Amino acid sequence: MTRVLLAAVLLAVSGCSGAGSPPPMPEPPSVPDIHSHARPAEARVTHVSLNLEADFPKRLLRGTATLTVARTPQARTLVLDTQGLRIERVFDQDQHPLPFALRPAEPVLGQALDITLSEAVERVTVQYQTSQDAAALQWLTPAQTSGKSQPYLYSQGQAILTRSWIPTQDSPGIRQTYDARITVPTPLKAVMAAEMLAPGGRDAGQGRRTFEFRMEHAIPPYLIALAVGDLSFRELGPRTGVYTEPAMLESAASELVDLEKMITAAEALGGPYRWGRYDVLVLPPSFPFGGMENPRLTFATPTILAGDRSLVSLLAHELAHSWSGNLVSNATWGDFWLNEGVTTYFENRIMEALYGADRAAMLAVLGRGELARAMQDLPAADTRLQIDLKGRDPDDGMTAVPYEKGAALFHTIEQAVGRDRFDPWLRGYFNRHAFTSITTGQFVTDLQQQLLRGDTALEARLDLQPWLTQPGLPPTAVVPSSPALAEVESEARRFGAGAAAGTLQTAAWSTQQWQHFLEQLRTARLAPAQMRDLDTTLALAASGNSEILFAWLRVAIARQYDPALPAVERFLSSQGRRKFLKPLYEDLMQTPWGQPIARRVYSQARPSYHSVSSGTIDTIVE
Ligand SMILES: [Zn+2]
Repeated sequence: MTRVLLAAVLLAVSGCSGAGSPPPMPEPPSVPDIHSHARPAEARVTHVSLNLEADFPKRLLRGTATLTVARTPQARTLVLDTQGLRIERVFDQDQHPLPFALRPAEPVLGQALDITLSEAVERVTVQYQTSQDAAALQWLTPAQTSGKSQPYLYSQGQAILTRSWIPTQDSPGIRQTYDARITVPTPLKAVMAAEMLAPGGRDAGQGRRTFEFRMEHAIPPYLIALAVGDLSFRELGPRTGVYTEPAMLESAASELVDLEKMITAAEALGGPYRWGRYDVLVLPPSFPFGGMENPRLTFATPTILAGDRSLVSLLAHELAHSWSGNLVSNATWGDFWLNEGVTTYFENRIMEALYGADRAAMLAVLGRGELARAMQDLPAADTRLQIDLKGRDPDDGMTAVPYEKGAALFHTIEQAVGRDRFDPWLRGYFNRHAFTSITTGQFVTDLQQQLLRGDTALEARLDLQPWLTQPGLPPTAVVPSSPALAEVESEARRFGAGAAAGTLQTAAWSTQQWQHFLEQLRTARLAPAQMRDLDTTLALAASGNSEILFAWLRVAIARQYDPALPAVERFLSSQGRRKFLKPLYEDLMQTPWGQPIARRVYSQARPSYHSVSSGTIDTIVE
């Protein structure tokens, strides 16, 4: 790779709003984004003002998006990204209609919307509605919720799905502030990744309420997020709280009780939390991810509610994104490792601060195992941190590699320079690039100028380029180790060699130890009698802990253990988290025994999954 050395180009437009004089033309993003049609060097969206109504019977959003545009005087076209939107009308700040044209749909990128600009245009309003199958939106029937009485809607913008519900320039390098008025039927409540102005909303007549929001920081559009449902709220601390359906409020609040402490621990490493509130929305089970770091309001899967706070590292991860990802964002999806690698490292430091070095070490070892498995399965080119996504869906890059290989790089740098130097650099990195989107090249420059500072011996020892541009894990990577997991490995060996399950020393095991134990057994050649012994003695199919249940079901599928099939089917049908679905369907599809099971369960469960999950599983179950 050619090392890209770029001047520190600030991409953000701070403090712009929907009103007043037009913002100055900002610097264009430093590299083109191959996943956006936008031409921001000519005309660039700086603010989005939404006025949308949720139509649950028709499963669509309709209304307007008013875009503030920074432009050159010569710009004649504003180019937006859209996908499946029905554009009804486009007009300027004086209500003058503007000519527009939708280009033909492209498979991944959707349709460019070209809007003709006259010289005086500062704001553009697009009147539109979404399609019923908008990729970002999932409309749930009451039966798909916990309460069973009200419908539900949520959005998932990452990576390039925001264009399916908002006509804007959908590139992480084109940061935008936003505000929104969202009208919903009573008694539903709308929440967004933004400041809620007037909690409770205001009456909009005809059995509807309007909720208003404002996000004053410029963010990448994939972080604009909306949820509508029968939501209740519980305060957890001075700046933290949880939203969820009433039936889950008690368990969610007790699981998230350490949230305020987590922020304090994160601030000690990353510097002040800059977003005001930090709330968590615990979604219905179909949510395709563990969590999504929407600013001020993390969206989280209910599968983290284990009852014993053993799975809260996921929230440490989403919280860490308040610095890595949201404050400093990847400029393009080829730089995704900058979001996830820093965050996975940061998550581990939060866990260490809160729960001790042993727990952090266990999580690091598990992560490294996940990376090793991903590296075996993926094409070599996709195990580079700087992945080439030309002509591909950026979703293809969302593997364990950006997360765990990225985190391994940061652990390695930390160990090479020591925390005394590493921590101030990391805090400085967040400050120097706050509210901007940067490329891998800009990251490398920052690291060289601010941390390595001409220490050529250190630079040679770290040997950064193979990390970024070569497949696999460089031999210089630090190797995490955990005595607690080593103990588990010896118990797994003992069981594999014929010891009875009842003799295993499992009483004090943590979730992470269970996960590791079961991962060891997945590749062991256990006899049917051993499987029955495990099943009846440990009763793992009844575990309320989603990670332990998932790990057990993988063992069961690997050994074609029929008695676990009801649990397999229940798990695949009752939640839609891709991290769980993908390996289980893949495992089933590997054998003639599992294929009909996968096909039957998927045909029934598919309508309950978000498009992010079904899009992936469609390629596995054929
Ligand atoms: Zn993440």
